Amino acid sequence: MSAPDPLDAALRRLHLPAVRQQYPELAAQAVAENWSYPEYLERLAQAELVRRQERRIAQATRRAGFPFLKTLEEFDFTFQASLQRKALGPYLGPELVSGGRSLILWGPPGLGKTALAIALAYKAIQEGASARFVTCTELIGELVQARAKGEWERALAGYLTPEVLVVDEVGYLSYGPYAANVLFPVVDKRYLHGQRPLLLTTNKEPAQWGAVLHDADLSVAILDRLLHRGEILKLTGRSYRQHRPGQASPLEKEREEVKA
Ligand code: ADP
Ligand code: MG
Repeated sequence: MSAPDPLDAALRRLHLPAVRQQYPELAAQAVAENWSYPEYLERLAQAELVRRQERRIAQATRRAGFPFLKTLEEFDFTFQASLQRKALGPYLGPELVSGGRSLILWGPPGLGKTALAIALAYKAIQEGASARFVTCTELIGELVQARAKGEWERALAGYLTPEVLVVDEVGYLSYGPYAANVLFPVVDKRYLHGQRPLLLTTNKEPAQWGAVLHDADLSVAILDRLLHRGEILKLTGRSYRQHRPGQASPLEKEREEVKA
């Protein structure tokens, strides 16, 4: 058995895995390329910073609970032509969180609303924010139950702490009578506490949310807060799920037949 390397042991104790892994190779490079001592040290420090950043992103992504991961780079803006990448400008990068910009992505199924909301939240994570993904049905279900069990504050906090909250599929299922009563505090408190952004997807025109959430007044109040600094982006076009490159989709054919 070889004697333990004191440098290796020290770096392990200091929790510097990237330095531990990369110093021999970088030392050889430093000699070959005549780096100064500070230069060598800086390269090692940078390597450790990169590792920490990657770990933070991976951890925040796991915590966000996305049903799948989609990045903006993977999102095909030529297919989703109703949406220009530049329309998303205010929602990319630090402005999403610092500007408290909420966004409602509205449109029929398959247009990439969920994928886009995930991509925006993931971008925010890359910029250093925390995020959480939830469907509207799950959010309402959890909060209604928590209220009945006296666990309201704790459950509500779970929706206030993340810097970016994605609420997916507002209006897909009919909710119980308390829907607006539990959704409103989430939107209102996020708005009051430093304008924390919400990304919502919906297949129902926001003006009809009153019927979906069983309360027209609260629904107006919810939209009022969301739209103070946010906006509604309407997506149109055909479903990506039916998309076969170079071919009209079955849905499209159907529509053409109906029109004919
Ligand atoms: P919606 O939420 O509007 O019903 P989704 O976001 O679930 O639609 O999209 C359906 C599937 O198609 C997902 O797997 C998504 O990643 C993919 N998708 C949709 N639009 C695009 C797009 N423009 N570019 C790349 N993938 C897309
Ligand atoms: Mg969806």
